[in-house]
Amino acid sequence: MKYCPQCQSKNVVKSGVINEKQRYKCKDCGYHFTVNKTGKQIDMYYVTKALQLYLEGLTYREIERIIGVSHVSVMNWVKKYNINKVKDLNYHPTYKILSQSELPKYFTDPNNTKGAGVIVTELGDKYMVIKWERFK
Ligand SMILES: [Zn+2]
Repeated sequence: MKYCPQCQSKNVVKSGVINEKQRYKCKDCGYHFTVNKTGKQIDMYYVTKALQLYLEGLTYREIERIIGVSHVSVMNWVKKYNINKVKDLNYHPTYKILSQSELPKYFTDPNNTKGAGVIVTELGDKYMVIKWERFK
C-alpha cells in the first residue's frame, strides 16, 4: 500500500513512470512522488498502454515522452508480444492529454470528432485523446 509522503493519505493514483520509477499522485493534496520499483519489472499497466499507443500509430519516441519508459523498452515489448501494426498511409494520429474535467468540453466541439473520430484511453490520472486525421 502506498502513502502520500506529504499528508499520509492512502488516496493515491498512478501518474506515469519517471526514470523507470513509478510515479504517483496524491488525490487529496495533489503531491507527486515516485517509488522505487522492486526489481526491474515495469508495471503491466504501462506495457499495455505503450503497445496500445504503438498500435494507434504513435512513434517510439512519442511513447517514450508520454509514458516515461525508454523507447528501447517499447521496441522490446513490440518484439516480445509480436505486435504487428497495420500500415495505413491515408491517416495519421494526433493526440492530446486531457484531465477528466476537460473531456466533456473537448467533445462539445464537433470539429474534434468529425472525419475519423477519436479514441480515449486512461493514462495514469489523465486521459489521452487520440484523433485520426486524413493526410491532405
Ligand atoms: Zn497527499
